[in-house]
Amino acid sequence: MNDRIEAIASKQDRTTAEYRALDAAHHLHPFSDMAALNRAGSRVIVKAEGVHLVDSDGRRMIDGMAGLWCVNVGYGRRELAEAAYRQMQELPFYNTFFKTTHPPVIELSALLAELAPAPFNRFFYCSSGSEANDTMLRVVHRYWAAAAKPQKKFVIARRNGYHGSTIAGGTLGGMDFMHEQMPSKVENIVHIDQPYWFGEGGDMTPEAFGLERARQLEAKILELGADQVAAFVGEPFQGAGGVIFPPPTYWPEIQRICRKYDVLLAADEVIGGFGRTGEWFAHQHFGFEPDIITLAKGLTSGYVPMGAVGLHDRVADVIVGNDEFSHGFTYSGHPVAAAVAVANLKLLRDERIVERVKHDTGPYFQQRLREALRAHPIVGEIAGAGLVAGIQLAQEPRTRKGFANGDEVGTLCRDFCFEGNLVMRASDDRMLLSPPLVISHAEIDELVAKARSAIDATARALGLS
Ligand SMILES: *Cc1c(COP(=O)(O)O)cnc(C)c1O
Repeated sequence: MNDRIEAIASKQDRTTAEYRALDAAHHLHPFSDMAALNRAGSRVIVKAEGVHLVDSDGRRMIDGMAGLWCVNVGYGRRELAEAAYRQMQELPFYNTFFKTTHPPVIELSALLAELAPAPFNRFFYCSSGSEANDTMLRVVHRYWAAAAKPQKKFVIARRNGYHGSTIAGGTLGGMDFMHEQMPSKVENIVHIDQPYWFGEGGDMTPEAFGLERARQLEAKILELGADQVAAFVGEPFQGAGGVIFPPPTYWPEIQRICRKYDVLLAADEVIGGFGRTGEWFAHQHFGFEPDIITLAKGLTSGYVPMGAVGLHDRVADVIVGNDEFSHGFTYSGHPVAAAVAVANLKLLRDERIVERVKHDTGPYFQQRLREALRAHPIVGEIAGAGLVAGIQLAQEPRTRKGFANGDEVGTLCRDFCFEGNLVMRASDDRMLLSPPLVISHAEIDELVAKARSAIDATARALGLS
């Protein structure tokens, strides 16, 4: 397979230098310092198969991030390509606005209702996770207007959460560096602190800290007035913020508070959805029941863009029963995206990929990672479940003392990963892994060994090994 990939990779149209020059001249990258990137030159990815990527120099690397948390069924699945090809020939586009629908969006909706927990029976479509969260806000405000409580207008989110990069998504997110470049924000969105025990738990036990952070929600509701608060939104586990898994006490308490004050609970399942933790949806892993879920990424395994919002019956019944919902996108329910999503979800279901993550590959990955990094001089904790993990780098793991320059240490480690042909992302001083869900035991061994090498090299470079 190795040889075949390289043979295909060698058929590319231009040299790496030519690609880089054109990229630097004409392409603005997301979340990038373009001057610095253009000096260094982008890595050009030309091909992928299974869990491996190949760049324009023929280098083969293991993708520990499933692209950007999304390629759940792995690269090169013919079933998805064929679904797109067939649908493009049959009906490449039609809208779902004016009393029309089409078979792919109908099949997808019925399938999602089958796969999601029982009360989730209705789905709205868009093209990204950001749009899904924008849509979630629309639904929330529409819901309270229909319930004759339009004064319930505040939405509470968390610091260091990530909900996308549209204006509303960026406002909901709790990342300062995104807020700084956005002087005008969506109104009535406020933040509470994150449930990040390693970094912010002080002397508390994780259980006590989980309750304390959840009760910040109650304090914020009381400060704003319960009759003013519409919803709380959070990722079941924070993804981009560092794969932060809240203590087990956190979500049950959040749910109790939302119910008590009649506040809608929205779970951003853009990363957690479609098998990442070994459950179909991450809120099932944490044992709570949201009113609204936002979806994207693994919905199509990233083969084409698509997002969705799933509504609990108690919300959907109100939205459906009250006049027009003045919201939609040209590509809402796009037939090609929907056909690919159906093919993708059928693979996840029929090949029992999600069950395998829960009972086999997930536990194996978590165990191998913990064995490989046990008592490592710069590893403070390993958080995660199923096929997602956050590896906390720390100056003094036992006392939970971080590095003064944590973001630089993370970047250093990420650079060692690239040298070792591993894609592992850094979020400040946490290293993140989220491989395709089809990864095998042998590939998990490769992934863990390479992660260990990069972290060893980081410790050596810091004089801490
Ligand atoms: C990626 C992500 C988003 C945004 O999705 P886009 O498709 O990039 O707009 C929203 N929420 C979470 C939790 C994400 O990880």
